[in-house]
Amino acid sequence: MRTLVLNAAYEPIHLVTWEKAMCLVVTAKAEIVAEYDEVVRSVSRIYKLPSVVRLKSYVRTFRRTMNSRCTRRNILLRDQLTCQYCSQRMNQHNITIDHVKPRCHGGGTVWNNVVAACHPCNRKKADLTPEQAGLRLIRTPRSPTWIDLLEEAHRELINSWLPFITNKTG
Ligand SMILES: [Zn+2]
Repeated sequence: MRTLVLNAAYEPIHLVTWEKAMCLVVTAKAEIVAEYDEVVRSVSRIYKLPSVVRLKSYVRTFRRTMNSRCTRRNILLRDQLTCQYCSQRMNQHNITIDHVKPRCHGGGTVWNNVVAACHPCNRKKADLTPEQAGLRLIRTPRSPTWIDLLEEAHRELINSWLPFITNKTG
């Protein structure tokens, strides 16, 4: 189980294991904001596992603390392994990174210029702009939010966290 950690201003910071979250609570560095139904038993007590904890001290938020660098891994997480031209879902081994404005025309590896693309779309696009290649982006690439960079396995937990991350996603 993972626990969402908020800073003192209720802004999401990162995810930790529930054990780490319990540590933060036991050492009075954090307080429990929400709990799972699952419990853990110690010799004398039953504890509910924390789903959200809030740090008592202020910690800088996502933009500076989370790894939001424009790397292949993060681009694929943001685009959910989906070709941004034909919507086809790929796996991490058969998907490529496309520069919307081609590198040879000065397009940089920055969030608003890189997208996940399947091989056929990437070949078709080559060193052209999408318009020239007759391709259309399914959405405009942008900097990822905090949620965008969560591993897929953790996204199922988002529902219980939504009240705490709405409008606070980076
Ligand atoms: Zn494609």
